[in-house]
Amino acid sequence: MKDIKELTFEELKTELAAMDEKPFRAGQIFSWLHKRFVTDFDQMTDLSIGLRKKLSENYSLTVHELEEVQVSKADGTRKYLFKLCDGEFVEAVRMIYHHGVSLCISSQVGCRQGCRFCASTLGGLVRNLTAAEMLEQVYSVIRESGERVDSIVMMGIGEPMDNYDEAVRFVRLITDERGYDLSGRNITISSCGLVPGIRKLAEEGLKVTLALSLHAVSDEKRKKIMPVAERFTIEELMDAVDLYFEKTGRRVSFEYALIAGVNDTDEDIAGLVRLAGSRGCHVNLIPVNPVTERGMKEPDRTVVLNFKNKLEKKGINATIRREMGRDIDGACGQLRRKHRELP
Ligand code: SF4
Repeated sequence: MKDIKELTFEELKTELAAMDEKPFRAGQIFSWLHKRFVTDFDQMTDLSIGLRKKLSENYSLTVHELEEVQVSKADGTRKYLFKLCDGEFVEAVRMIYHHGVSLCISSQVGCRQGCRFCASTLGGLVRNLTAAEMLEQVYSVIRESGERVDSIVMMGIGEPMDNYDEAVRFVRLITDERGYDLSGRNITISSCGLVPGIRKLAEEGLKVTLALSLHAVSDEKRKKIMPVAERFTIEELMDAVDLYFEKTGRRVSFEYALIAGVNDTDEDIAGLVRLAGSRGCHVNLIPVNPVTERGMKEPDRTVVLNFKNKLEKKGINATIRREMGRDIDGACGQLRRKHRELP
């Protein structure tokens, strides 16, 4: 059965018309789903019992089981582990910033991109998430915390561009003004650099921010830590970044996981200045989360601070990502791995 949350407003209207229901019912149902986050058709109390029954016979209504919530004593970050209807697990992380509540969500169960510093990819890709399963991460967290989510980053388990259609459907659904009405400007989609997806996203007419996981400034070095670099060169990536800016007016930000002894030298700084400077791109430095299986470590704090200062001296807008939730299973994919006993 199709999940009703998966339907755009127009699709819902069409399906209701096929059931001989009045068009205004679409507004009522859409509002129950995307503003009041109901978990059962029977909660849609302004619909007749007959229509509720018809809906439940024709559609499913995905609700994730909340398997575990870890709360950081240090900063209140909450990490959620959801059990999906087929028994798979995904994670979402809720962080509180001065500008509001931010939620990092997953787009796939596992990932096939194989980045060397990442725990999410260790068991490979299991399956894509549907847009409804992405929405449900947001809505479950709102139900649990009682607070609205102000911004979303698609930077959890999975590569959104490898699940392109559902990722875009998710964005269209959550930004619909008749539903959750989140501004596209408050959504960040991250990509490890699947060039065709980035080029396609540039043409979608969505005002979302693109965060490119760059992590190295030469093809040679990038290939050592990111298999995707075997398929797309940095030059091709930068062409896609330029197209994204040209079409959307949104500057792409570069994510840069700092790994001790791998990409933390002056030469790397010079490369970042070359790539980010002329494009006015923001650089977000992420001291890599230690993942035992990968044997990668973050550089000393002084190296991280020096790296940032040297970038800033060259006119690059750089930040160090707040290390949230280090006292819980901080690295993306670690909590899921514990529950799945993955290799
Ligand atoms: S960093 Fe992202 S793209 Fe790379 S393996 Fe991990 S989840 Fe996949």
